[in-house]
Amino acid sequence: MTDVRPDSQRQRKRVFIRTYGCQMNVYDSDRMADLLGSLGYGLADSVEQADLAVLNTCHIREHASEKVYSELGRLRDVKQERRGAGRDLTIAVAGCVAQAEGEEMVRRQPAVDIVVGPQAYHRLPELLAEAERKAALKRAGKRLPGAGVLDTDFPAESKFDHLPAPHGVRAGSAFLSIQEGCDKFCTFCVVPYTRGAEYSRPAAAVLAEARTLVAAGAIEITLLGQNVNAYHGEGPDGATWSLARLIQALAEIEGLARLRYTTSHPRDMDDDLIAAHRDVPQLMPYLHLPVQSGSDRILAAMNRRHGRDLFLGLVDRLRAARPDLALSSDFIVGFPGESDADFDATMQLVDQVGFASAFSFKYSRRPGTPGSALPDQVPEAVKTARLAALQSLLVKQARAFNQSKVGRIVPVLLAEIGRKPGQIVGKTPWLQSVHLEGTLRLIGRIAEVRLTAGHANSLAGELAGVAREQAA
Ligand code: SAM
Ligand code: SF4
Repeated sequence: MTDVRPDSQRQRKRVFIRTYGCQMNVYDSDRMADLLGSLGYGLADSVEQADLAVLNTCHIREHASEKVYSELGRLRDVKQERRGAGRDLTIAVAGCVAQAEGEEMVRRQPAVDIVVGPQAYHRLPELLAEAERKAALKRAGKRLPGAGVLDTDFPAESKFDHLPAPHGVRAGSAFLSIQEGCDKFCTFCVVPYTRGAEYSRPAAAVLAEARTLVAAGAIEITLLGQNVNAYHGEGPDGATWSLARLIQALAEIEGLARLRYTTSHPRDMDDDLIAAHRDVPQLMPYLHLPVQSGSDRILAAMNRRHGRDLFLGLVDRLRAARPDLALSSDFIVGFPGESDADFDATMQLVDQVGFASAFSFKYSRRPGTPGSALPDQVPEAVKTARLAALQSLLVKQARAFNQSKVGRIVPVLLAEIGRKPGQIVGKTPWLQSVHLEGTLRLIGRIAEVRLTAGHANSLAGELAGVAREQAA
C-alpha cells in the first residue's frame, strides 16, 4: 500500500550517515539508509538536521580510525547543545572501527549510543529501540549498569537476507556486494578480524539484486568484495559459481551495459576470469589488482601467498586477453624489514608494468595484526621518502596513460555535475574521470565523448556526435 501522507508527516525523523573508507562501506551505508527509511527515517544532509547520526567507519589505517574519534567529539558537542533544547541526537558507530573496538568506543566516547559491527546492520531496528529505552530511563533519572548498546557479533544469519532491496540508483551506477570477509590473513591487514571469514552470497540473490538495480536505472554495476574474485557462491543449478560464471550470467541482463568488480587478489585470478575479460564485452577494460610490493622477501613477510613472478605473469595473460586493459594496484611502502633493495624491487615492478592508476600507502601498524609485532619497523622519515618516490612514478604513469587516450572518441558514463558552471563529469571505460560541458539531462547516461586533454588524475573532453546534438 502506498503511503500518501506528506513527507513532513511520514518521515518525522532524519538520519545523517557519514561513510569512511572503502566502497563496501558505501554499499552498506546505502543499505542502512534503506532499512532506516522503512522505519520512517528520511536522509539529512547534515548532523544539525538529524535525530540519528551514523558513522560508518574504516579501521584499515591508524589515520582512518583516529578521524572517527575527532568526528565523535563534534557529535558529542551537538548532542550536549541539543539536550538543553529538549531534543536528543542518537549517535551510532558502525563499520570496522566499531567491530574492532566494541565496548572500548563507549568508554572512550560515552556520548556513543550504539556500536554495531558490519555483520549486524540488519539488527539496527532492535538496537535503536533498545537505545531509546535506555535514553528514556536515563532521562527519568535511573542509573544504568552499562552505557551504549552493542552488537559486534558475527551472526549465523546473513545480513543480506534481512536488509531491504536497494531503493534507488545514483546516476546510472550502482555497487553490489557479492562477497564479504577474508581468509587470507595478510600480516598487515585488519580485514579478516573486522569483517570475519569469507562469505559469498548465493548467485540467485546477486542476480535478483542486479535486476532490481537495473530496473531502478543502473546501467553500470560494480561487484564488491574484500576479496571479490574469491567469490564461490551457490548457483541456482546447485553448483558452486565462480566470479567468472556470475559475470557471464549478469551480462545477460538486458540494459546492463557495464560491469566492474573490485577488489581482487592475485592468487584468485583464475583462467576463467581472465577469459571473461576477453569474452564479455560488458566487462570494462579496467582491473584493480593489488600487489603491495615488488619484493618477494616482503611479499612473503606480508603472507601475500604470491610472488612477483606470479603477478607479472598475470599481467601478461590479462593483457593478452584484453590488450586495452587499464591496470590499477595498491602498494604499501615501509612494511617492517623493507630495505632499500626491497623498495627498489617495487619501483622496478611499477616501471615494468606501467599502471593507469594506483593507491599507495605508508605501512600503518594495526594493533592485533602479526605485522605490528615484527621487529625492524621502518622509520617514518624513510616511509615518507619512499612514498614520495613511488607516487611520483605512479603519477607520471597515470598522466602518460591518460594522454595516450587523447584524440579518441569513447563511451563515457556521465555521473555527476562538475564544480564549474555547465560542467559535468563522467567515467571512461578505464575508470578515469572526464570533465566536459553538458546538461543535467545527460547524467546517468552513456555518451560518446572526444577526449581532448589528459592530466594525472583526469581527462578533459567534449560531447561527440549524437549526444552533442541532443544536448544542444
Ligand atoms: N583485499 C584487497 C587485497 O588483497 O589487496 C585489499 C583490501 S584493503 C581494504 C585495501 C588496501 O589497504 C590494501 O590493498 C593495502 O594496500 C592497504 N592496507 C591494508 N592494511 C594496511 C596497513 N596496515 N597499512 C597500510 N596500508 C594498508
Ligand atoms: Fe586484507 Fe586483502 Fe590481505 Fe584479505 S587479502 S587480508 S583483505 S589485504
